[in-house]
Amino acid sequence: MVCFVFISACSSNLYKSTNRSYKRQVKNYAKLLREYPVKDSVGLSYTDNWVGTTNFTMRRPNFVVIHHTAQNSCDSTLRTFTLARTAVSAHYVICKTGTVYHMLNDLLRAHHAGSGKWGNVSDMNSSSIGIEIDNNGSEPFTEQQINSLLQLLERLKKAFNIPTANFIGHLDWAPGRKVDPSRYFPWQTLAEKGFGFWFDTTNVEVPQDFNAVQALRIMGYNINKPDIAIQSYKIHFVPQDTTRMINDADKKILFDLMKKYQ
Ligand SMILES: [Zn+2]
Repeated sequence: MVCFVFISACSSNLYKSTNRSYKRQVKNYAKLLREYPVKDSVGLSYTDNWVGTTNFTMRRPNFVVIHHTAQNSCDSTLRTFTLARTAVSAHYVICKTGTVYHMLNDLLRAHHAGSGKWGNVSDMNSSSIGIEIDNNGSEPFTEQQINSLLQLLERLKKAFNIPTANFIGHLDWAPGRKVDPSRYFPWQTLAEKGFGFWFDTTNVEVPQDFNAVQALRIMGYNINKPDIAIQSYKIHFVPQDTTRMINDADKKILFDLMKKYQ
């Protein structure tokens, strides 16, 4: 096979067995959904009093978490996400060419965010779509990648009515533990299209008693360790600044962002 060169052309063969595994797992979940009367998942028994409601839909994602893969090729990432032992996955992988691989139904839970906290959300995998962008962490993202990403975000935002504030990076969710996407990621471009917010410090007057760390908390950051929350904020919003210090310019930025994210 020439799969090494033309991955996309024969990915159906390369991933034949993992696609079968996907189908098998989805079938089991479908079986669970079809159960009637519904068995109780928490060990209590109300089956005698089962009355099915007529009014419901599937649960929907409400966040998008953006990552860089920290791997050297899309091929490596597809392999990682199809090996059971890695236990990690994402809904979408965007290659340097702009090709988008879809790996999981948007209504199912991918294993991409891990432990962390954003606002009061403590299980991000249950409420989000995970998007991995093929990038080793120390190189710019390609124009094709960003174009494909913007197109995908547009669809997701509309389909699931995702709020502008709820497009975040893995580093925002898990400060210190994660630093992706890197300083090269064009958050301002995303914000201009309605995915996350950006700041405008024109005419911003910061009150005397302004508390920058509390502002980070209001935005959503976990401030248990303020310096690593600051680190994530800097990578996301002030990528040229590699310190963990809050200066007067940061105060203006945070005062403005706090009002947009709160
Ligand atoms: Zn990540």
